[in-house]
Amino acid sequence: MAPVVMWFRRDLRVRDNRALARAASIAGEDGVAAIFAFSAQLMAKSSPQRVSYLLDALRSLNLTVGDRLNFSYGDPARDVGDFASSLEASIVVATREFSPLGRQRDLRAKALLAERGIALELGDSPYLIPPGKLLRSSGDHYRVFTPFYKAVLAQGFGEPRPAPAVEFAPRSRFDALAQEALLAPLRFDVSQFPASEEAARHRLVEFLSASAASYRVDRNDPSLEGTSRLSPALRFGVIHPREIAAAAGDFPGGDEVLRQLVWRDFFAQVASSAPRGVWENFDTRYDLFEFDDPSTAQARDRLDAWKQGSTGYPIVDAGMRQLRNTGWMHNRVRMIAASFLVKDLHIHWRIGAKFFLEHLLDGDVASNNFSWQWVAGSGTDAVPYFRVFNPVLQSKRFDATGNYIRRFVPELAHLSNRFIHEPWEAPSQGPLAASSYPERIVRHDLEREEALRRYATMKRGGGWER
Ligand SMILES: Cc1cc2nc3c(=O)[nH]c(=O)nc-3n(C[C@H](O)[C@H](O)[C@H](O)COP(=O)(O)OP(=O)(O)OC[C@H]3O[C@@H](n4cnc5c(N)ncnc54)[C@H](O)[C@@H]3O)c2cc1C
Repeated sequence: MAPVVMWFRRDLRVRDNRALARAASIAGEDGVAAIFAFSAQLMAKSSPQRVSYLLDALRSLNLTVGDRLNFSYGDPARDVGDFASSLEASIVVATREFSPLGRQRDLRAKALLAERGIALELGDSPYLIPPGKLLRSSGDHYRVFTPFYKAVLAQGFGEPRPAPAVEFAPRSRFDALAQEALLAPLRFDVSQFPASEEAARHRLVEFLSASAASYRVDRNDPSLEGTSRLSPALRFGVIHPREIAAAAGDFPGGDEVLRQLVWRDFFAQVASSAPRGVWENFDTRYDLFEFDDPSTAQARDRLDAWKQGSTGYPIVDAGMRQLRNTGWMHNRVRMIAASFLVKDLHIHWRIGAKFFLEHLLDGDVASNNFSWQWVAGSGTDAVPYFRVFNPVLQSKRFDATGNYIRRFVPELAHLSNRFIHEPWEAPSQGPLAASSYPERIVRHDLEREEALRRYATMKRGGGWER
């Protein structure tokens, strides 16, 4: 009897892995042949940060399964078919995916496998509730967060299950490029973010014990370790959200953690039911909005300054440097940096979203692109366009000590709290001068007016009121 193939993707764990449990339950004496199929195309596009985290998580999973994980490198849909065929397997099991790319790949994989008489069985999801399962009483998909959140609480999401007992078949495939990637030293230090199941669980308990009670407030202060930093582990399925939700319930303040986790489900269900709105304006009235032409020298210079963390706005620059240096950015600062690109620099949200996706360890097309659209005004439930974040006031309010800025923009570390949020106010000579830090590239007050002018033009052009 041939083994059952378990195809790991965004579920790099054994605990509460229901696809793996399913594979184990139908496997006979030849056990479960587990594979991870690298996509050469995605590997070429991903930042060293993301690749390093993925490799770290895969090494850990491979150890957990007794060094029996198979690895291919090329075209996943085709490679998994070849692998299953070579073992004469008749079933491939995997966790269902909901991103536009994941769904396309699975449709193709299903067709390629079917040509060889092999079934692709998809189940469970990387979410508390599979996208599309919860509908409004009208039968429509949810488009507003709070009713969705209430519906999730009412529905419940089940308890996490222990790792299933699995007999893993010996390894039969380990492509040379996969070996090269997995055996080389990591190109980027990702040790701040747990990439093994054990480390993720440890971080969860540590976070809930130390920070859940104050999470509601502290989660907005980027200078604190006030959030879980489990987003990369969630992105790659090193931990399932059911585990976080179940554990959070035992801690005061855990309800707010659950609420944030439900945002992840919310965006996933919007993306899966409206895939066009992932890269296009969800609210198509915003199609009339006039962004700057990205090919002009001014737009290119501004975008470059934003990417490099040299806009002259310390909180924006700290965030962009945190992203480049660590592969992660604090949520509050993501909002400020995104707003700055869209509303102060007048650059299309899609350009910023793409840059974030390439660099964030937790880069997830649903959470990322709908958060960008939330900021830009074109998303579901979005902030109205006319609410323009003031980067100085946001900085004074949420990084009141200036310590976040000091950490990521060391050339400003000598400035007092009075000047650190707006170094252009510091005396141009003497110890409080802003040293090598760049001049601000735009004036927020002027660009805010310009953003509002364009907003009014869009509204007039579209003949709508809001
Ligand atoms: C412009 C922008 C882009 C973003 N891009 C991504 C992305 O690509 N991937 C991503 O996972 N999150 C994204 N977020 C949401 C949020 O910033 C991160 O999930 C959060 O910062 C992760 O840190 P944490 O694990 O410490 O979160 P915690 O505060 O500990 O929250 C726990 C978990 O809840 C989920 N969560 C928390 N806040 C949000 C939120 N606002 N939206 C969706 N899920 C949330 C995450 O899975 C997170 O790990 C983005 C937000 C903005 C404003």
